[in-house]
Amino acid sequence: MVERLHQHYQINDPRVLEAMRAIPRHLFVPEALQGRAYGDHALPISASQTISQPYIVARMTELLEVNKDSRVLEIGAGSGYQTAILSKVAGQVYSIERIGDLARGAQTRIRELGIYNATVKCFDGTLGWAANAPYDGILVAAGGPHIPKPLVGQLKPGGRLVVPVGPTRESQRLVRVIKTETGSKEEDHGACAFVPLIGQHGWDDQK
Ligand code: SAH
Repeated sequence: MVERLHQHYQINDPRVLEAMRAIPRHLFVPEALQGRAYGDHALPISASQTISQPYIVARMTELLEVNKDSRVLEIGAGSGYQTAILSKVAGQVYSIERIGDLARGAQTRIRELGIYNATVKCFDGTLGWAANAPYDGILVAAGGPHIPKPLVGQLKPGGRLVVPVGPTRESQRLVRVIKTETGSKEEDHGACAFVPLIGQHGWDDQK
């Protein structure tokens, strides 16, 4: 898997590749799918959600440009796999998941791997997590209609927000927002497909 990330997908940051090598992805997917854990695809987890494709996890982590002094916020912990990867490249990771069972599962898996610099809590992540702000990097693992404003507000100057944005699930772009002293600038990093970001600054809950 790591060979493919480097050779085919041009993931070049050695810290990201090392994190992808260190975290056992099969522990984050349902037992019946563990044989496919290192394939080039997203996989279903519980509650109709997915664990992102390894390439997307690596690419988003690389785009955050964080290091061991960085404080990172993640929205959409899901299985906790991306959270575990972030814990290897960042100093402190705060992660939010709106589905209680997933949040508990993610936190348990992370502790079982002996990771103590990542915390998962259950609430609407489109509001950010003001108590621990400001952040060096914010990663959103679900796609919304626009960039959630509170998240930009919780970035440090120079901080990076990586977020999928688009009018439908089929037409999302991976956007990186870099906060500047006077405002922010946006970069387009290509097409992507994520499960919906549901919340006050995302989509309405359809249920
Ligand atoms: N990075 C995850 C991918 C999870 S899929 C992994 O590696 O497994 C995206 C997750 O975002 C889903 O679990 C979904 O429940 C969650 N989500 C959607 N909207 C959210 C919100 N407003 N706040 C927190 N989590 C949210």
